[in-house]
Amino acid sequence: SAPSKFQMIADGEATAILPTGGKQKPITVIGTEAIRATFDDLCLQQAINSRLAPGVTDLVLNPDAHCGYGAPVGCVMVSPTHIYPGPVGVDIKCSMSLLQTSLPADAILDRPTRRALINAICERTPTGAGRGQRNAPKSRHVGEALGKRVLVEGASRGVCEELGIPPEWAARCEDSAHVGHDDSTGALALRLEQLLPQMHRFDAKMTQLGSYGGGNHFGECEVVHVEANDRAREAARVFGLVDGGVAFLSHCGSRGIGHQLASGQFKALQGKFTQWDIPLPGGDRELVYAPLGTPEADAYIDDMALGANFATVNHLLINALVLEAFQEVLPGVAGQLVYFISHNIARKEVVNNNIAWVHRKGATRAFPAGHHALRDTPFAETGHPILLPGNPQAGSVVMAADAGAAVSCYSVNHGAGRQLGRKAAKRALDQKEVDRSFEEADILTNCRAYPIDEAPAAYKDFDEVLRSVKSAGLASEVARLKAKFVIKD
Ligand code: 5GP
Ligand code: MN
Ligand code: MN
Repeated sequence: SAPSKFQMIADGEATAILPTGGKQKPITVIGTEAIRATFDDLCLQQAINSRLAPGVTDLVLNPDAHCGYGAPVGCVMVSPTHIYPGPVGVDIKCSMSLLQTSLPADAILDRPTRRALINAICERTPTGAGRGQRNAPKSRHVGEALGKRVLVEGASRGVCEELGIPPEWAARCEDSAHVGHDDSTGALALRLEQLLPQMHRFDAKMTQLGSYGGGNHFGECEVVHVEANDRAREAARVFGLVDGGVAFLSHCGSRGIGHQLASGQFKALQGKFTQWDIPLPGGDRELVYAPLGTPEADAYIDDMALGANFATVNHLLINALVLEAFQEVLPGVAGQLVYFISHNIARKEVVNNNIAWVHRKGATRAFPAGHHALRDTPFAETGHPILLPGNPQAGSVVMAADAGAAVSCYSVNHGAGRQLGRKAAKRALDQKEVDRSFEEADILTNCRAYPIDEAPAAYKDFDEVLRSVKSAGLASEVARLKAKFVIKD
């Protein structure tokens, strides 16, 4: 796409405006010139459709953006009046979490130890689409009754205790529990009872608690390198990051139940748009919406919360299981959750002095030090940890937001973002070459052949993405994470 599509603003070269043709409805674009060239026409069209959709007051396109479901993956959409399921997506509350262990890097240098860790983790937290807890201990079996509590309560103290999750980890979550449309848990319980009779194999979906699922989801063992400046060191201390220590990064969402809840909502809303002959934003069925206060909006907000609560407990249980696996292989190791933060969720936040739903589709919340919403959290004076996966070979980072994040509705990207679609990656990349690159980088994996559509070259240049974030003044690096092994489908 020609750079002339964008109007430069601010001092840096990484903040631009994309005019939409709608009067005074510009899109804020975060990305250097090289990054802006990665946005294809469909991605930009989705951004424009989303910006011009009813009730939308702000749209931010982040450097990792590529085309998605209705709205681009890698965007932030704000509305004080409407809720949009597309810009949350089918994997409700897909998220990142990071566990800091007490191990020094040299404890996992030798390959047999890493191999043993991979096996111990895979035994407890299976990967792969549709898979559940094959080998979960009876004490952690999740049947229908506990499953219902998970969906309604999220990571409540009671649910954490039932599942052997350290309850103090709840304070390390962006949101440990989501409530219903009327801000109550009661609404969720009612909604779930309403849904249960039509739900296909609810108990089987609950046994997926504590599992990664397939595709882009992963677990990755990291060595932490804290940046050498005072601010980064202080943030690392507050986050609980240990320089030169071993940490574990996880990426997954709400599994089968989230998918079922989201697809049910798309179907229901698309049906009403047809029935009532309502114009679709940009003519796109993936951009159906509901005005706040309607029964349709209430039902979506409740279903999103049910899925989000599953995702939260799923991540926390995975972290507990990963820690248990480490302890089996390396007795005595301790672990502490650094943070758990989503990149597919709509949250009620204050934007430009208005309460609005902030939809982050492949985008990460970025509240800086002093933000009112961090007041009673451990991160009031540093900003909360921002967990950004890049790819196993380029590494990943932990960041903290800067005051400049106000321009992006307090959001940053959620990773490097795809530059090759799955099919294109399979055509363009060579399996042997990919496997050799992992061997050369001394990164072990559980895969016999690394999934070619997940190869590092399928993603954008992570350094260029980070350059965009930093030069736009959104966030600063606290630590780099270097992968030592990857668990993927
Ligand atoms: P999503 O699939 O949720 O849209 O994107 C997650 C992000 O994770 C991608 O944009 C990519 O940058 C990153 N990513 C994908 N696979 C891996 C991996 O195996 N390891 C790491 N560290 N990052 C990954
Ligand atoms: Mn996901
Ligand atoms: Mn994700």
